[in-house]
Amino acid sequence: MTKIDLVFATNNPHKVAEVQSKVNGNFNIIGLADIGCTEDIVEDGATLEENASIKSRYVFRNYSKNCFGDDTGLEIEALNNEPGVYSARYAGGRDSEKNIDLVLEKLKGTANRKARFRTVISLIIDGQENLFEGIVNGYITTERSGVAGFGYDPIFKPEGYDVTFAEMSMEDKNRISHRGRAMEKLLNFLEEMKP
Ligand code: IMP
Repeated sequence: MTKIDLVFATNNPHKVAEVQSKVNGNFNIIGLADIGCTEDIVEDGATLEENASIKSRYVFRNYSKNCFGDDTGLEIEALNNEPGVYSARYAGGRDSEKNIDLVLEKLKGTANRKARFRTVISLIIDGQENLFEGIVNGYITTERSGVAGFGYDPIFKPEGYDVTFAEMSMEDKNRISHRGRAMEKLLNFLEEMKP
């Protein structure tokens, strides 16, 4: 049986390989480079949902390919869910250290440290769009701990754990993470499609 090509709207080959290793054999996961898409897809949506859709719709419209795109944000309760869709550039540039400094500064003296990471995936198959969401609840610490991971990991403690994401192994983090949970929903959906 011919496999169905499914584009993951990302330039990160590691993300592509990770999904390929988990998806059922009917799908062939490929990245943007594999379809010759080298242009910058402008993520100017006001929500994670919009940004995920911008990516999948762009590929479907311009390349007529089945596709999924994802977007993630850190939502801090005391900051009205900031930085949210602006997580990557919260402090201006794409600088994780400055982003962390800004969060710690804004939360100085704030007792409510509740936060969550949220990932949204938009999948388009034959023009039909489906959204999948993954959430991990937790807390923002008062100082950095750990060196693993990336982004806000050193200041995010998932609920039920006494370590930050940056103090966890990648396997442990992926098992409970926002992205891991959203991907699991996507994979279950594809599993049930039985094309
Ligand atoms: P993206 O949509 O996956 O590119 O994520 C947007 C931004 O959210 C990243 O640049 C990071 O700052 C932050 N972020 C996303 N996922 C994680 C994570 O697993 N740990 C820490 N920060 C993350």
